Amino acid sequence: MTYLVKLGELSLKGGNKAGFEKILARNVAAALRGSGAQLTTHDGRFYITCKEPASAEAAERIEDALAHLPGITGWAASRKTEKTIDNVLAACVEEARLCFENGARSFKVESRRTDKSFPFRSYEINCRAGDAVAEAIPSFKVDVRHPDAVISVEIREKAFIYGYEKKGLRGLPVGTAGRGLLLLSGGIDSPVAGFMMALRGMNLAAIYFHAYPYTSNEAKQKVITLAGILARYTTNLKLFVISFTAVEQRIKEKAPEAWATVLLRMAMMECASMSARRAKCKALITGESLSQVASQTVENIRCAESRAAFSVFRPLIGMDKEDITRKAISIGTYQTSILPYEDCCTLFSPQHPILRAPLAEASALYESLDLQPLMREAILSGEVYRQGYAI
Ligand code: ATP
Ligand code: MG
Repeated sequence: MTYLVKLGELSLKGGNKAGFEKILARNVAAALRGSGAQLTTHDGRFYITCKEPASAEAAERIEDALAHLPGITGWAASRKTEKTIDNVLAACVEEARLCFENGARSFKVESRRTDKSFPFRSYEINCRAGDAVAEAIPSFKVDVRHPDAVISVEIREKAFIYGYEKKGLRGLPVGTAGRGLLLLSGGIDSPVAGFMMALRGMNLAAIYFHAYPYTSNEAKQKVITLAGILARYTTNLKLFVISFTAVEQRIKEKAPEAWATVLLRMAMMECASMSARRAKCKALITGESLSQVASQTVENIRCAESRAAFSVFRPLIGMDKEDITRKAISIGTYQTSILPYEDCCTLFSPQHPILRAPLAEASALYESLDLQPLMREAILSGEVYRQGYAI
């Protein structure tokens, strides 16, 4: 069996196309490592072949990898044959039989002939294949307008025939837009934010501010798990776990209670910027969504941002919580995100937080806390995880 992989927006990228394809090929190869499947590229198309006969597990493994890679619009498990009309017709009948057995009652054949030396034009292939299928399975009806099944024929360096096509994530291959540092909490939002930037081609590293014993080790484990789930989309993801206990204690001791949240956010931004520089990241990513919670007012976001040394990307800023939740379910992070372990912010939220912190006042307060030495220390003693394991 050969998987025919269709590439997405890549075709729009003019001069960058070859480079983008190369990066996607690298990502696909990395995702398939150990599966025994082989990737070949030919003329802007990717082909994945697995050993025959292909086991159900091998097919599942390949499809699972393809379903997690940004830059792929879709794929089809296809029959590959020599380019003779008899082979093509026989393969069409076999594919049609599969569709019919799965409940389809009408079909059409759609052909594309990239190799113009093939002696039958697309229209002729469609007609002949339609006839061959109708003859072999008399109750399978041709319906060119609203068919239950489409049997596709592609005449390239070989002939490829398939009855099913699966949709990919689309977007751009991870690695085409540099690397961003995701501020990853254990909540629902930030994993989705990371995923959305990965879909625009950003590679990810992640940082989690842990405040043991205010936040439990279960909370940390949850973030490690989330980073592992996100790594499926980026093929690789380093998570930095930074202890923020000393920073939080200083804020609690020295600043007015109402200011705690906004000051903590400023500290996170500054510390994330310090880490981003070390990890060669070009941007920060957060799961903020306007007005969702007290720390996410226009004014408070501005205060936090004032401590950022990089662009801050907030892909969820205009999104509704319900839509974010739906996305979290579809990318597989939701079930982990809703585990009941507090992240530092839930424990560290004052009863009446300041909602619209004036920047000048916030900055003066923040400076007076002298948090930089604590943050530098925290970074030096930070832990690093990859795919769920400490490294
Ligand atoms: P989330 O669902 O992502 O936790 P939230 O709705 O709880 O977001 P906040 O608690 O205000 O909102 O956090 C806003 C953003 O700040 C988060 O999306 C995340 O990017 C970052 N953040 C918050 N807490 C932490 C933390 N402990 N470590 C790293 N980043 C954090
Ligand atoms: Mg949160």
